[in-house]
Amino acid sequence: PGSATHDPARTVRAARGNVRTAKSWGAEAAKRMLMNNLDPEVAEHPDDLVVYGGTGRAARSWEAYDAIVRTLDELEPDETLLVQSGKPVGVFRTHEWAPRVLIANSNLVGDWATWPEFRRLEALGLTMYGQMTAGSWIYIGTQGILQGTYETFAAVARSLGAATGSATDSLKGTLTLTAGAGGMGGAQPLAVTLNDGAVLIVDVDESRLARRVAHGYLDEYTTDLDAAVARVVAAKDAGEALSVGVVGNAAEVFPELLSRGVPIDVVTDQTSAHDPLAYLPVGVAFEDWKAEAERDPEGFTQRSRESMAAHVAAMVAFQDAGAAVFDYGNSIRAEAKLGGFERAFEFPGFVPAYIRPQFEEGRGPFRWAALSGDPEDIYATDRAIAELFPEDTALHRWLEKAGEKVHFEGLPARICWLGYKERHLAGLKFNEMVASGELKAPIVIGRDHLDSGSVASPYRETEAMKDGSDAIADWPLLNALLNTASGASWVSLHHGGGVGIGRSIHAGQVTVADGTELAAQKLERVLTNDPGTGVMRHVDAGYEHAKDVARERGLNIPML
Ligand code: NAD
Repeated sequence: PGSATHDPARTVRAARGNVRTAKSWGAEAAKRMLMNNLDPEVAEHPDDLVVYGGTGRAARSWEAYDAIVRTLDELEPDETLLVQSGKPVGVFRTHEWAPRVLIANSNLVGDWATWPEFRRLEALGLTMYGQMTAGSWIYIGTQGILQGTYETFAAVARSLGAATGSATDSLKGTLTLTAGAGGMGGAQPLAVTLNDGAVLIVDVDESRLARRVAHGYLDEYTTDLDAAVARVVAAKDAGEALSVGVVGNAAEVFPELLSRGVPIDVVTDQTSAHDPLAYLPVGVAFEDWKAEAERDPEGFTQRSRESMAAHVAAMVAFQDAGAAVFDYGNSIRAEAKLGGFERAFEFPGFVPAYIRPQFEEGRGPFRWAALSGDPEDIYATDRAIAELFPEDTALHRWLEKAGEKVHFEGLPARICWLGYKERHLAGLKFNEMVASGELKAPIVIGRDHLDSGSVASPYRETEAMKDGSDAIADWPLLNALLNTASGASWVSLHHGGGVGIGRSIHAGQVTVADGTELAAQKLERVLTNDPGTGVMRHVDAGYEHAKDVARERGLNIPML
């Protein structure tokens, strides 16, 4: 929808190497990461400026994109560019410690924060949907979500093991059912097979399944449900790791598998349910999707919610039958409830079920990209991380598997979960490696907005907080302000990412390791303070483990 001028002839690819055309590495890195977000290897729909997550865009229009690139090239090292929902709106004199770019995406005043109002304003060309790392220029392809998904399925395996009394952290001999093989959801099949399980993934869009196979995230796919079921059930029985995609609508396939009594152990979903226009309802042909959604958005939303109600009803029935079922952060429970299914919230979200203990330590999806474009730079950083954290066996296992299995998309990048008083060690080490010439060009260090201190999202990251503070959104604002004050290279503040308009407020930061002493000072502060806000947020909500972390690692909390 809206304002992006369609320009299919254009292919965007970030420059590689250690020669910059911008006047600072902060501006050069922002420009390259914007371009990297739109690289056809990285973006799901680059012609429409859509990076991932339904309609998550990197810039409001191609005109705005060109103006951002031009401005970043001209920007002085003591100036800051302001970007308002994907459009460059002003350049101000600041100072060298200030961010080179400040970004605000998709923000609306509370009473106006609805999809219809957002779409009205988007159609007028006044805003865009920034998702989390689309509009803040630090999306790194499907790997970005792979590690978190891998960790979540490992936690699912441990809880299944605990339930059956067998201490295991593998999914061997189990069958997982999910849907949505898009930019984020496409990580699910590989995350399950890395945990040694079998998985069936449903998507209405055959091209998404083909793309996951091409990139090594999915073993195979078919249009024949019977054949798919036979393959995955045989793999489960044999204890083999196998991922199979099937082309179909989850709102039909999930109930069908339930009625057939297929022996499914784990059920989740990552269709783009947060945006009812990005979820295909039953009865609308795949080819008519876009036209139907544009013709009658309200009617389409209603049909889409009704289909989600059927989809979620099947998920609850799988839970009734003994499967482990969880919401994977796409707001499908809330949409299904709006579609008339009252029991939608009977299964939990993945954060309270599996992730919160990590957030209490300020742990979350730390990531970095090599501006050299050389995969060897990432392999060198992998080794450095392994040496920095010799005790963390899960981290070592991840780095090893990622090194083998992850196909780089766009600039070579890596992700791993690190916490408070860990991330800055990595940042300082990378900066030293740039300074010494061990790495061929600067490293860009950022994270997802889905982090421990940077998001308020009551259906996802802050679901079921201990003190009931789920919807308090002061925390991500403080996080963005603190990162700005600490020396980040660009800072972003968004609304609506992950779970949709009206349901979240979240912030991001990216800081460049260019090998200078100034970069070391900035990295030390940003990469300490940023995860520190996660520990602070969980201390404030009353989590005991967070309090221990704060005391042990020396975080100053005035009222603790
Ligand atoms: P995407 O838009 O790239 O992919 C969504 C996929 O769902 C598409 O391939 C689409 O064809 C498919 N789909 C739509 N309707 C369907 C239906 N009825 N049946 C089967 N398939 C259908 O989105 P994405 O980036 O993969 O994100 C997916 C969802 O996960 C979003 O809601 C996003 O906000 C959420 N998300 C979760 C996390 C997390 O950590 N859990 C992180 C990021 C995003």
